[in-house]
Amino acid sequence: MGLINKIFDKKAAPLLIAIYVLLFVAERRRKLRKPTEPLTKRIVINSIVAVPAFGLLRFVFLPAMVKLTLKNKTYGVGYLLPLPSFLRLICTFLILDYGNYLWHVLNHRVPLLWRFHVVHHTDLDLDTNTALRFHFGEMIGSVFFRGLFVLLSGATAKEVLAYELVFEAATQFHHSNMKLPAVTETYLNKLIVTPRMHGIHHSINKDETDSNYSVIFSFWDRMHQTFKINPYQNHIIIGVPEYRDAKQMTARYLLTMPFKKL
Ligand SMILES: [Zn+2]
Repeated sequence: MGLINKIFDKKAAPLLIAIYVLLFVAERRRKLRKPTEPLTKRIVINSIVAVPAFGLLRFVFLPAMVKLTLKNKTYGVGYLLPLPSFLRLICTFLILDYGNYLWHVLNHRVPLLWRFHVVHHTDLDLDTNTALRFHFGEMIGSVFFRGLFVLLSGATAKEVLAYELVFEAATQFHHSNMKLPAVTETYLNKLIVTPRMHGIHHSINKDETDSNYSVIFSFWDRMHQTFKINPYQNHIIIGVPEYRDAKQMTARYLLTMPFKKL
């Protein structure tokens, strides 16, 4: 899998670390929502939770997706429609991103998937650090579902890796607590998911959690009438109503949470 090493390890990973650092600094300067928990404690917990998920992403998810693209030279839009490479890339991004919208909806609606996804939502603050807090079980399930959309798109290995880079960067951006000018964010939000939009999805209010599932492009939520926006974020309480005890939320608890009685 030299391609993953060449594209992901040597180019995408350093770029993602740089984006993380920039967003981390930006969200300390101008905060969108007032933090409630000690930052260092959250960084430690979320980083520990991220280790097995990141390991699976790098050594299982990416190799599986790349292998799929190398084996498939027949199926999917990319092979059935003779598009120029730029249009083919756009088409791939749209199909893969729509797949991720549907995967996120399923994570909220299917009880077994929610057991894993809830770990991400139990963070009591929302910032770039929350973008690390994904349970490794969620990654295992996504291999099959997202793999299906890789096949549907007929993407090449390079296109899949390019999408993954933008997907990870978008995830960091929309989880950040960076306060952008409302006007700037309104314009950006016409096309992509922004921090205010995703902040609503992390609210303890069920009506708000059941909205804004998109990852990169915001129009999937508009298309499915699951779109909600509110420029004022101070009313939003981040988290899940049943899991408000910060002392209980250790890294060990979060990693074993999906296998316990919820
Ligand atoms: Zn969610």
